[in-house]
Amino acid sequence: MQTILNYINGKLCEPVAGNYIDNVEPATGLIYSRCPRSNQADLDEAIKASANAFSTWRDAPLEQRAKVLSRIADIIENRLDELALAESKDNGKPVSLAKAVDIPRAAANFRFFAQAITQFSSESHSMPGEAINYTLRDPIGTVGCISPWNLPLYLFTWKIAPAIAAGNCVIAKPSEVTPMTAFLLSEICIEAGLPPGVLNIIHGMGAEIGDALCRSLEIKAISFTGGTSTGKHIAEVAAPMFKKLSLELGGKNPAVVFADCNIDKTVDGVLRSAFANQGQICLCGSRIYVERAIYDEFKTRLVEKAKALVVGDPEVSSTGVGALVSKAHMEKVLSYIELAKSEGGRLLCGGEQVHLEGRCDNGFFVAPTLFEGLSNHCRTNQEEIFGPVATLQPFDSDEQAIELANDSQYGLAASIWTNNLARSQRLSREIKTGIVWVNCWLLRDLRTPFGGMKSSGVGREGGLEVLRFFTEPKNVCIATT
Ligand code: NAD
Repeated sequence: MQTILNYINGKLCEPVAGNYIDNVEPATGLIYSRCPRSNQADLDEAIKASANAFSTWRDAPLEQRAKVLSRIADIIENRLDELALAESKDNGKPVSLAKAVDIPRAAANFRFFAQAITQFSSESHSMPGEAINYTLRDPIGTVGCISPWNLPLYLFTWKIAPAIAAGNCVIAKPSEVTPMTAFLLSEICIEAGLPPGVLNIIHGMGAEIGDALCRSLEIKAISFTGGTSTGKHIAEVAAPMFKKLSLELGGKNPAVVFADCNIDKTVDGVLRSAFANQGQICLCGSRIYVERAIYDEFKTRLVEKAKALVVGDPEVSSTGVGALVSKAHMEKVLSYIELAKSEGGRLLCGGEQVHLEGRCDNGFFVAPTLFEGLSNHCRTNQEEIFGPVATLQPFDSDEQAIELANDSQYGLAASIWTNNLARSQRLSREIKTGIVWVNCWLLRDLRTPFGGMKSSGVGREGGLEVLRFFTEPKNVCIATT
């Protein structure tokens, strides 16, 4: 059985107390590795290492930082197949998805911020005849990055790359549910020559080492992606200490389909947005609103395609839907399916656990599931399920579509499907989400701001926004007379 290790001060190391957590392969239900259950003693080592590394890393020429980040990107790309297989085994997602999306994006995160930091600039404000102001943007010091299990390496590196590009040292905690590719990243950073202490990766339980990270006085900023209730807890802990906080939280995202859409493209786009990564993407469209004129046709075509998705062994290339990440999560998703039935939902497809034969006969598989006939106010339509479950509702006007889309505590992302340009612009303005896609979904340009409104979080990642987050602005005013 493989043992995952912490990465502290440039070295792979056992947890000080010697405790480990079992790590399960979701497709088989079997324990296949273990990761450290770190505690305060491990965190203290990481804090010491990052404090020692900070001044040299902060003062390193930008080109030097950029070069190391690019080398990390190169090695990720060279190890694409191995990393994709590891991600699939650890998370349950189809290996084809990890190979096409997760791992290339992890490399792109390092490559993008290697370049972005060389283009990052700050402001100057002239007071003619009196003074000149310029704004310094210094790295903060040691920052904490905490990430979830759904896109493990993709989201982990989305935080780490800008933080170290900006000159910070990082203590990062991946999800204990999917620790493997974070461990492989440790090896990659060693190979790439990242100076010891610049990045420290400590594994363990959220309520233990994650909480300790947020409470540490030495950590000046926390970038967190995960559930809304965890985000709330982190805000309660960190806000009174006046830490900088970026919180990327849950979603319950609307997909709004108008009768004037390109129906072929829209059925495919909405299907993907509902079921990609087994519906375990914070951006997934799980509330599907369809203009009444095409409701029946759209429903028939969507259900047909959902039924045709192949639920199977994530390691087989033809698999479209892999395993959910854990038994506990599968049971949560199945309980929401029962809830939807009890709330009066009509099941259109799926609605059950899928039992495969052979290697995966104990895996955590759930069939792509669609319901209709539920009110917008019911729990099924208000709570984040985070699995392959979506609902359909008809609407009759633009106003009603906006009202339904906004009737949620969440505000992460929306997709709008229409060929009417004016309508798409009006809805984009009126829908209260941090991201709006028109006639597409999950199309990402890394320069754009990324994040949510309402209970979906505070702050924005991406592009220059995140470089601003990971730096402290300081104004210097020089009298010129
Ligand atoms: P989670 O909140 O349970 O865990 C996320 C991370 O926080 C893990 O590393 C966990 O160990 C850690 N953690 C847990 N309790 C903690 C605590 N008390 N203090 C510090 N850290 C703690 O979330 P999850 O189940 O891993 O991920 C699913 C959730 O993440 C969903 O709600 C999903 O919508 C959200 N998510 C949001 C985005 C986004 O960009 N907005 C992206 C992906 C996932």
